[in-house]
Amino acid sequence: MAQNKVQFQDGISLPEFMVKYGTDEQCEKALFNTKWPYGFKCECCEHDSFCYIKSRQTFQCTRCKYQTSVKINTIFHSSKVPLSKWFLAIYLISQNKNGIAALSLKRQIGVSYKTAWSMKHKLMQAMSEKDAKRKLFGLVTIDDAYLGGQQHGGKRGRGSEVKQPFVAAISLTSKERPLYAKFTPVESFTSVNIGSWAEQHLYPSSVVATDGFASFNIISKINEHNHVKVPMQPDRKTGEIPFFHWLNTILGNVKNAIAGTYRSSRKGYGERYLSEFQYRFNRRFYLRSLFISLIYTASYSPPLPWRLLQRAVDCK
Ligand SMILES: [Zn+2]
Repeated sequence: MAQNKVQFQDGISLPEFMVKYGTDEQCEKALFNTKWPYGFKCECCEHDSFCYIKSRQTFQCTRCKYQTSVKINTIFHSSKVPLSKWFLAIYLISQNKNGIAALSLKRQIGVSYKTAWSMKHKLMQAMSEKDAKRKLFGLVTIDDAYLGGQQHGGKRGRGSEVKQPFVAAISLTSKERPLYAKFTPVESFTSVNIGSWAEQHLYPSSVVATDGFASFNIISKINEHNHVKVPMQPDRKTGEIPFFHWLNTILGNVKNAIAGTYRSSRKGYGERYLSEFQYRFNRRFYLRSLFISLIYTASYSPPLPWRLLQRAVDCK
């Protein structure tokens, strides 16, 4: 039986992870190498020599006495959670196909639910910011999609009052295989919102395929020659149209992953859940390096205080 190369690729085994990152010292060294890949350099005077103050996990410049750490100005900033638990959380999030819910994370790494939720959302926010500036190019298929439960007696799909609307887009290779995905929550599918989304997330040279949804017509006005409106027949679903096959397959996986792992994504945090799926999907060919990628992303993401972490972020 033919094996799916993405599904059957080797990841990092738990024993291998524990050997490499099982102690706080190993994790601190990994962050040191991420922060200073060419050796220590003082942020104040650029001197390259330091002494280590173990009791405070602090590096002090031997010339100007400036003190710093591997956690400062990262998502680990001010966290009382040991680095070994942070690394285990990153390992579990990066190596599981559908991620891991905060409740499961709490049990696996041995912290309170509030702490697990905070760690999980800080990492999801870092993933969101990392991919936010990536623009799609080439052949791009776009559709409107919805996240969350349906209100009893409410409308389904377009026009639903309780679902979180989001723009779902994927770029395809010349052989029409999926390349990158982008899921962006929007307040509603107005022409203004779609036009703003297209300018922010698509290269002007992209060839864009959409169905007949009127809100997407604005894309023709932005780049008239590159917008293909695929005619829809009443008895045919978008998933049956070749252009939309991959987009609909991936959207099905998104909804299964979020519904299965998280039961339901709370309205207001949809962008983070979508970003986590998107981050993993866009790096799906490199499962082993996905862990290192997320360590790097966390190390170069700014601190996120609790009050900002709780703030709903969907509507833009
Ligand atoms: Zn210095």
